[in-house]
Amino acid sequence: MVAAVIPQNLVVRREKRNHACSALLTAGEESEAIPENIYLNKDMISFRIKTEMKMLEKEMSVLQIVIYGNPTLTKKAEEIKNIDKIIMELAQDMVKTMHTAPGLGLAAPQVNVSKRLITIDTSIGEDSQSLIILANPELISQDGEIALEEGCLSVPNIQEKVARPFRVLVKGTDLEGKEKIIEAEGLLARIFCHEIDHINGKLFFDRLSPLKRNLIKKKLKKLAQDNKI
Ligand SMILES: [Zn+2]
Repeated sequence: MVAAVIPQNLVVRREKRNHACSALLTAGEESEAIPENIYLNKDMISFRIKTEMKMLEKEMSVLQIVIYGNPTLTKKAEEIKNIDKIIMELAQDMVKTMHTAPGLGLAAPQVNVSKRLITIDTSIGEDSQSLIILANPELISQDGEIALEEGCLSVPNIQEKVARPFRVLVKGTDLEGKEKIIEAEGLLARIFCHEIDHINGKLFFDRLSPLKRNLIKKKLKKLAQDNKI
């Protein structure tokens, strides 16, 4: 099982990058035959290049990542009706913010924008082929289950084991307005689930027992009082 060797935290430090990349590449190589209507990362290359070209048109900004306590994080985000200039720029800034943090994924509510937009890059900027930007992402199927430690840029200093599906199919819209269906497993599946939870107003500790959840909330309150978050 590839998932056994992948990093256990969505907020990885830079020295863990290579490990994360090689684990994910191994996962891709071992994939079975894929139905024709399913796009894997490598099929997003042309989209990636176009996106990168568009990104060059604007100086990207690093946005402020909001932390637990901000009401946008616990609100269901709005559907994106059109991929307009505002959404394009938001996506570009989110990619820059995610790479700078650094994090493997980011959802618009984390930058205080209540829109259903997510960015994911398991290479944290090292390999542009792994960049995924999706509007209105939703899980259309899932299977398997694996519990691994997770962290979140909006919940600093807390990591907990969270059970997530091992494999998912995600449907969403790319920045060209085209529908995409992406099959993901292991770490990538976990990140999709984590980011889709964000746009539904859920944080990773909402997936834990009420007892654990309350302990974490108390810890976060204490950290905030001590000005540590
Ligand atoms: Zn998060």
